[in-house]
Amino acid sequence: MELFTNASFDGHEHVSFFHDEETGLKAIIAVHNTNLGPSLGGCRMWNYSDESDALTDVLRLSRGMSYKSALAGLKLGGGKSVIIGDPKTQKSPELFRAMGRFVDRLAGRYIIAEDVGTSVDDMVNIEKETEFVVGLPSKGTGEDASGDPSPVTAWGVFLGIRAAVSYRLGRHDLKGIRVAVQGLGHVGMALCGYLHEAGARLIVTDINHDALIYARNTYGAEVVAPDAIYEQDVDVFAPCALGGILNDETIPLLKASIVSGAANNQLLTPHHGDVLKNRNILYSPDFVINAGGVINVYYEWLNRHEPSARYTRDDVMKHLSVIEENLKKIYAIADQKDINTSQASEKLAEAIFKDGAAGDDSSAVA
Ligand code: NAD
Repeated sequence: MELFTNASFDGHEHVSFFHDEETGLKAIIAVHNTNLGPSLGGCRMWNYSDESDALTDVLRLSRGMSYKSALAGLKLGGGKSVIIGDPKTQKSPELFRAMGRFVDRLAGRYIIAEDVGTSVDDMVNIEKETEFVVGLPSKGTGEDASGDPSPVTAWGVFLGIRAAVSYRLGRHDLKGIRVAVQGLGHVGMALCGYLHEAGARLIVTDINHDALIYARNTYGAEVVAPDAIYEQDVDVFAPCALGGILNDETIPLLKASIVSGAANNQLLTPHHGDVLKNRNILYSPDFVINAGGVINVYYEWLNRHEPSARYTRDDVMKHLSVIEENLKKIYAIADQKDINTSQASEKLAEAIFKDGAAGDDSSAVA
């Protein structure tokens, strides 16, 4: 298993491997960059087929968090953790308490939160051992904890779709705009609600039958099979399920001129950013458009560490306008410099967290 020569290493500041004999916990915490503040990122629990896959995943995800938080204007660095194990069969309160002790040993360099395979309940167990955890339930006032981030993430994605439609189609509303939504989970279903309310027409898919029925009955969505979602005659394709779905097989099928959705790691490889550009498809980079979740937990963190701060959904929702502003900037930079939108957004983020640019200075992008 390679670390310093791993293709995803990218100058990580700190990578820790942990084992707890009593609970069997095997975990990795990766801290990519802390120039802007403590690193924050979710804890993914996954049944990795081998340990080097787990290492590559945590490195890639923590790097992504540095870029996401920098562009979202948060005083946070990028970090992430993984627990190697099956979340369906290997979870226990003790396992997460052991994880909490490991997080605590990093003394605030890494703040943990939920991700795929972990939940609010797991964070509650982690909190028994460390203060460096967010995504907790409210202890009463409703102004102390952030709860489920999905509606916030979905609203950010909605704003991102609006920005893309305005830039590419010159339309300032979504009435009659056709959107194909892949995945009707926590984010995808909330997004459907916002889009429906704005007058968009929905085509949806999922592997969960009940979700499809709900979207059809509630939002008048047309339902298609999972494999058929890419080739729908729509304006916008909104991936809200899996990573790696923009690849050599799917990109040629797309009829949409815009791809804007919540899923993490949508491009199978960085090269697929160019493949989309060459097909003249406007891609909203995932770590820019899906920043609502981290913005949400950031306010919970502030609430606990700045005596005058309170967590309110209003403040979080106001902050989300940064997503629309960033995307407009990124589309314009990509066009001016003839680069793809992922490259444009990475350069913009690096100008903030590596070079200390103000964040609104697109001239800082070489
Ligand atoms: P979720 O697990 O609630 O929903 C995922 C949905 O995708 C499920 O309904 C599932 O049945 C469906 N699905 C799985 N395989 C599919 C397939 N082959 N075709 C169609 N549908 C399929 O997850 P979520 O919280 O809604 O997150 C969705 C995506 O957004 C994930 O990639 C996640 O990493 C990303 N994301 C979520 C948040 C958040 O706040 N929840 C924040 C940032 C990014």
